[in-house]
Amino acid sequence: MTKKETAQIIYDEITKLFPNASCELNYRKDHELLIAIMLSAQTTDQSVNKVTEKLFKKYLTLEDFASAPIEDLEESIKHLGLFRNKAKNLHLMTNKILNDFHGVIPNEQSKLESLPGVGRKTANVYLAEMHHIPRIAVDTHVSRVSIRLGFAKKGSTPLIVEEKLMNLYSKDLWIPLHHKLIHFGRYFCTAKKPNCKNCPIIEYCKWPELN
Ligand code: SF4
Repeated sequence: MTKKETAQIIYDEITKLFPNASCELNYRKDHELLIAIMLSAQTTDQSVNKVTEKLFKKYLTLEDFASAPIEDLEESIKHLGLFRNKAKNLHLMTNKILNDFHGVIPNEQSKLESLPGVGRKTANVYLAEMHHIPRIAVDTHVSRVSIRLGFAKKGSTPLIVEEKLMNLYSKDLWIPLHHKLIHFGRYFCTAKKPNCKNCPIIEYCKWPELN
C-alpha cells in the first residue's frame, strides 16, 4: 500500500469518528474570527469562547478595539494565558488593519502575517475558515497526531508537518483534514491518554515505536 493510500484510509476512519468536525471558535464577523484565533494561542477554544462572549459585546468594531486602552483590553482577556502580550497585539493588530489596510483584513498570507500577533498558523486558520482557501494549520494536536501516525518524524517543526500533510492529501481535503485531525487529537488521541484500545487506525500508528 502506498503512503497516500494509507493516508486516505486514516482520513476515512477519522471522518467516521468526527464527521462534522469544524471550527469551534465562536465569531460573527471577520475581525472577530481573527481575534479569536489570535487569542487561542496556548489556550483552549472553550476558554476563548467564554472570554469573547463578553469581549465582542463590549467592542463591536475594529475601531473599538483599536481605540481601547491596552489596560482595558488586558482586563477583558485576563483569564487567558499570555493575556498581556495578546492585549498588546490586539491593540497593534487592529490599528495596523485600520492604518495600513484601510480597515479591511487582508486575505493574503504574507499581508496577514505582517499583522502583530499573526503567525503562519493563525493566518492559515483564518484563510481556510473565512475564505475557504485550502490551508492546513498545524497546531499542537495536528502536529502530535501527524507524528504518531508517521506522517512526519518526531521533532518535526509545524512547517515540516504542514508540508508532509500537503504532499499526502489532495487540496480539496486540506481544510476538512485540519479540522478532523484537531478533533481526533483533542478528543481521542489526546496528549496524555490516547484512546488506543478503541482506535480504528492503531495498525498504522507509530506511537509505540516513538516511546
Ligand atoms: S493508536 Fe493510540 S496513539 Fe495511535 S493514533 Fe490511535 S489513539 Fe493515537
